[in-house]
Amino acid sequence: MSTLDSHGRPNADYLKAPIEERIGVGLHQLSRAVLLQSERAAYRHRLSGLQSQLVLSLLKQHHAKSIGGIADELDLSAPTLSDAARVLLKKGLIRKARDDRDGRIVKLSLTRRGRTLAHTLQEAQAEIQRIVSSLSNEEKEHLLSLLVTLTKGFLNRGLISISRICQGCQFFGQDRYPGSDKPHYCGFAGMPIGESKLQTDCPEHVPLNLPATDR
Ligand code: SF4
Repeated sequence: MSTLDSHGRPNADYLKAPIEERIGVGLHQLSRAVLLQSERAAYRHRLSGLQSQLVLSLLKQHHAKSIGGIADELDLSAPTLSDAARVLLKKGLIRKARDDRDGRIVKLSLTRRGRTLAHTLQEAQAEIQRIVSSLSNEEKEHLLSLLVTLTKGFLNRGLISISRICQGCQFFGQDRYPGSDKPHYCGFAGMPIGESKLQTDCPEHVPLNLPATDR
């Protein structure tokens, strides 16, 4: 609804809002849209958003498989995650088994039915990719670069605990080749990489605070 100032002119104070505030609102709206998209897909399969996140996380080989590890991964408490896991176990979508190397640890995995469902849930996220695909290559690269920079900021401030972005990886050499079209370096692949190859969930990621051999 438009408002007028005391002289009857349009009140354009909204134009004075700091850019950071508008970006923050924009990011919040985007995250809400992404979350809604996943939750709608989950509800169609009689799952909660959290149960769907757990199924999707288990689909990724390089993600944690223990309750505690997955809870860290999703920034949730272990009891909350255990509740979600209990429902999925009852539905026959996941199974649990003791870890071969350490019997105190229980690991979760998808059953065949759970895997099929996880793939279906994953397809629902394709809508987001369709929207992103309408951007030019240059815009996509720029967006990816901004996303990893923002994610690093969230990590540094403790707003999220785990993210497998290049900027938080021991193998990453930022701007090692300035001026080149592949300015960065991936020590795991042993090659320079450009902005378009920056990773957001890299299977070979080693966090900065973890010894490279302790994976
Ligand atoms: S291992 Fe993955 S996350 Fe680490 S620098 Fe290489 S591409 Fe990036």
